[in-house]
Amino acid sequence: MSSNLHLTILGCYAAAPGSYKNPTSQVLEIRNNLFLIDCGEGTQVALRRNKIKFARIKHIFISHLHGDHFFGLMGVITTFSLLKRTAPLTIYGPKGIKELILLQLKLTKGFTSYPLHFREITSKESEVILENEEITVTTIPLKHRIYTNGFYFEEKLGERKLDITACLKLDIDRAYYNKIKQGGDITLDNGTVVKNEQLTFDPPQPKSYAYCSDTAYYEEIVSQIQGATALYHEATFLESHAHLCKPTGHSTAAQAAQIAAMAGVKNLILGHYSVRYGDLQEFIKEAAPYFENVHLGDDGKNFTF
Ligand SMILES: [Zn+2]
Repeated sequence: MSSNLHLTILGCYAAAPGSYKNPTSQVLEIRNNLFLIDCGEGTQVALRRNKIKFARIKHIFISHLHGDHFFGLMGVITTFSLLKRTAPLTIYGPKGIKELILLQLKLTKGFTSYPLHFREITSKESEVILENEEITVTTIPLKHRIYTNGFYFEEKLGERKLDITACLKLDIDRAYYNKIKQGGDITLDNGTVVKNEQLTFDPPQPKSYAYCSDTAYYEEIVSQIQGATALYHEATFLESHAHLCKPTGHSTAAQAAQIAAMAGVKNLILGHYSVRYGDLQEFIKEAAPYFENVHLGDDGKNFTF
């Protein structure tokens, strides 16, 4: 069964935090899994403010080791312990993340009340880093100043939907409904075989979410995120500062929109704005000529797809 994707942006600004501008972090709910993606400074405060239950977070994904994407991690890990958490927590991130956290725990004589696992990523190729019955999470190698991965969260194809009218018409016993939903054919008492397609509808199209931050304009990601339900793509700069994209490994709003258009995604969410800009509407204006369905990410904003 397909359900909605629900995204809460906790922070979507680049570099140093401002009074009302949080560095990067967001929470994705997909098929009852709650994932924390990046963990900039102030993330635990933003989690509280957005009323997200800490205990539901079992996996944290860190795109790269720039401070505005992970300086909040130590605080989150420590608070989970103060809350006497017992459920395991797994952190996915570039090689080095384990050393960074364990060193801080060691020097502060800290410990966790729960099993803390690390899955360090080193591959330059896309790879599956988490899979369960409902979803798959795959890395999206990005182009930035240091080793960086985006993440692709994808629902698995659900069961077929029962055509209840057809089943009742043929007087099929309820005991077979599960078998039918799983794709099985049915043999009636008179020996007639009824094909599954006559008893079911196609399952809903699986939904997917592509998180791409931080990155320069990078067409290599297009094939991997093709047709995604939603793409979050960084848009650090407006055209007026396009010359800064190359040295910093970032993108403009227009470039994010071009990637979205090429990939044929259904929705584009912009974020990771440089704090130098006051009016975010300018980002929409510059993206709109290239891609129609563009949304402004902003701290505390929720999206349901
Ligand atoms: Zn960065």
